[in-house]
Amino acid sequence: MPHPYTHYFSHYPENIQAQVDMLISNNKLLTFFKNKYPVGHSLKNDKLLFEFTNELKQRYLKNAPKLQQVQYKKQKDLVKNALGTHTFKRQQHGGKLKAKHEIAIADQLRLAPQPILKALVVHELAHFKEKEHNKSFYNLCCHMEPEYHQLELELRLFLVLQQEQLSFY
Ligand SMILES: [Zn+2]
Repeated sequence: MPHPYTHYFSHYPENIQAQVDMLISNNKLLTFFKNKYPVGHSLKNDKLLFEFTNELKQRYLKNAPKLQQVQYKKQKDLVKNALGTHTFKRQQHGGKLKAKHEIAIADQLRLAPQPILKALVVHELAHFKEKEHNKSFYNLCCHMEPEYHQLELELRLFLVLQQEQLSFY
């Protein structure tokens, strides 16, 4: 039976889509996550999330403008995959033009496995350098997190769990 999440995975190769269909249709998704990631992450508040994100930023994007804020936020439209957002503003500040970077992470990710949260953070950080989802964007993601592609797939699977309201940790 087709499931309503087909569009999350429509750009993946057919063999991957078939595996995803199996997991979802046979109700194996929760078991998959529980086996692979028995414990959740400890970045439960904005301060810890900021420190984690800023450490990655300092390591891989040292020359990018300062990271101002990282927050968990309720995202309205998860269906459009708006799991994270990044904003970049230029502000007049005491006669100087200051660049300001902010990242928002969907609230649901408080309950995600740590590697999946990291993948989303890496994604939003990579947007500091590349606006589009092009080859150099994904190269940068993979530079910060070598398992990025697998984790992005799992992030989409995690989103399905959330939509199904399957309890996790
Ligand atoms: Zn993006």
